[in-house]
Amino acid sequence: MTGYAMLLEESQDRRVDLGLVEYLRAGEVREVDIRTSDRRRVLRIRDRVRRIQGGKLPDRPNGVPCERCPVLESCETRQTLASKFF
Ligand code: SF4
Repeated sequence: MTGYAMLLEESQDRRVDLGLVEYLRAGEVREVDIRTSDRRRVLRIRDRVRRIQGGKLPDRPNGVPCERCPVLESCETRQTLASKFF
């Protein structure tokens, strides 16, 4: 919702502080505040996506079930020393 609100702000050149989520099965509409912390999170995710697009893959997290992964042979992620401990 926040990402969409930010895109809307950019295209409409106006601030969006509230969104509406419609739960069809429940027949309910709920208001969602567009929070500053979520805006920061969207920007961090955007930056991560850009880094991946630029060829820098994220570190391999601990406990990932790589042994069953179909792309294990070609996977280029790596496990850093830090990700081994955290
Ligand atoms: S092999 Fe690579 S893509 Fe597959 S689960 Fe492990 S880290 Fe993820």
